[in-house]
Amino acid sequence: MLLRSHLFNLRSFASAVPNRTSPSPCSSIRRGNLLRATQSGAVSAAVESSAGQSESNSSSKNFNFARENLFIPPGVDIVDVTPEMILPGSNIVVGPYAGDAKITEVEFVKSSPKVKDCPKDDRPEFAIVGRSNVGKSSLINVLARKKEIALTSKKPGKTQAINHFLVNKSWYLVDLPGYGFANAPDSVRMDWSVFTKGFFLNRKTLVAVLLLVDASTPPQKIDLDCANWLGRNNVPMTFVFTKCDKRKGKKGNLPDDNIKNFLDLVRKHYQVPPPWIMTSSVTGFGGDNLLLHMSQLRNYWENY
Ligand code: GDP
Repeated sequence: MLLRSHLFNLRSFASAVPNRTSPSPCSSIRRGNLLRATQSGAVSAAVESSAGQSESNSSSKNFNFARENLFIPPGVDIVDVTPEMILPGSNIVVGPYAGDAKITEVEFVKSSPKVKDCPKDDRPEFAIVGRSNVGKSSLINVLARKKEIALTSKKPGKTQAINHFLVNKSWYLVDLPGYGFANAPDSVRMDWSVFTKGFFLNRKTLVAVLLLVDASTPPQKIDLDCANWLGRNNVPMTFVFTKCDKRKGKKGNLPDDNIKNFLDLVRKHYQVPPPWIMTSSVTGFGGDNLLLHMSQLRNYWENY
């Protein structure tokens, strides 16, 4: 809970804050893998990178990056942020709480029909949610470096359940049912919203919601509604953009345009910029960085 209030009370950046050129303690973390680009170019730089192009195209000397939309984790001061501290293809700054992030073990624990049936231990958890077909199973398999972790709630109309997976025996990945099934009856849609909203608002061990959004399509109303509801209710969340390698049709928007449009539409519902990150389950782009981001949220949560 403390994390929840802390993350939402963090001030957004003032763009006039001068940059420092000396490295901060945080900048040593994964320096080799961090984006050397302006923040405003992060979206396109990430797409280039996911397409297999070199990240070195971007300038390492350009420190005029925009600070106002960055996600600043606990333990980082705005004035210490340098471009090297921003995860590639994201607005996320890496701070001192980032640590060992790799998934070595995933174990299915239980499928709970109601929030009150969920595991009652104190382990921190991340809920993963998104529209049906957004790429949730694919992303989870990328994170766990496995071919197939069975997700039990994939089929439209199937009994809604909250599925807990224990990761490295220390934290939970919680698979919530997908929303927006094209052919689902109204009763299923209604169930989804009552059920998941109850989870988001009542789970004391929830560190953050990972809201998956398909970057290969323009913003969809159902995703915007979900994002806006989470924002209005101060539920800590991270936008995870999926399918960032993909463009719908030759004339379709590029993923970075879709992402920019989406973020513009949800911004007003957030007091501070929510973290967002681009991923592709085809190239693997963003997977390790998402885990690193989750590690810093988790470690902070566990220590306070
Ligand atoms: P879920 O219903 O949310 O679990 O979605 P799936 O993981 O089953 O993926 C739905 C479809 O999108 C499948 O055809 C996947 O192959 C495809 N897909 C998932 N992730 C990506 C991605 O990152 N890039 C591309 N191009 N396709 C993806």
